[in-house]
Amino acid sequence: MPLPKSLLEGYRRFRSGRYAQDEARYRKLAGGQSPGAMVIACCDSRVDVSAIFDTDPGDLFVMRNVANLVPTFEPDSGLHATSAAVEYAVTALNVPNVIVLGHSQCGGVAAYRQTLKGKADETRFIGRWLTVLDGLDVHKGDLDAFSEETAFELAGVRQSLANLRSFDALKEREAAGLLKLHGLHFDIGSGTVLALDEKADSFAPLPEDGCA
Ligand SMILES: [Zn+2]
Repeated sequence: MPLPKSLLEGYRRFRSGRYAQDEARYRKLAGGQSPGAMVIACCDSRVDVSAIFDTDPGDLFVMRNVANLVPTFEPDSGLHATSAAVEYAVTALNVPNVIVLGHSQCGGVAAYRQTLKGKADETRFIGRWLTVLDGLDVHKGDLDAFSEETAFELAGVRQSLANLRSFDALKEREAAGLLKLHGLHFDIGSGTVLALDEKADSFAPLPEDGCA
């Protein structure tokens, strides 16, 4: 089957535009990558990671999954795509930053909220996957500062950060000052990003001017 016309046209624009202008960069990247950060984002089509951070190919190692979740370290026989990506980014690429990027109107988190009163359908992939959020600790400070919907999304970011620290390789690098963890939340409508200050235990907008 042919690709949808819009994608084929986009590919042609990429070849004649961005690729033609940046060919040297692409040829160099073919030799290897050294991204400055890993980003764990949601599959949601509205969360365009490279647009939000205005990055180029090679800058970010991006893992996208439903609701931007990181499960706890589980060395079993399961097929752990997210854990494999985290392991590779941290131990092979030595990324100095790992970012969990939540977002507004997250369908995955909303689905989990709706099943809190009942039981998730764990016979389906999505229900089983969302059990990563089990035991979700929605912070009172987040509930005071933001909507309940947002507070749940922020709790998901907090939980994934905690789960990242269940990976020994990551915890060791963080303790040695070789790796920083970041929790962010992108608001689709306003295009703004909240960042978690772990010392203050609260989320605040990223500064938009000057050097942060
Ligand atoms: Zn989402």
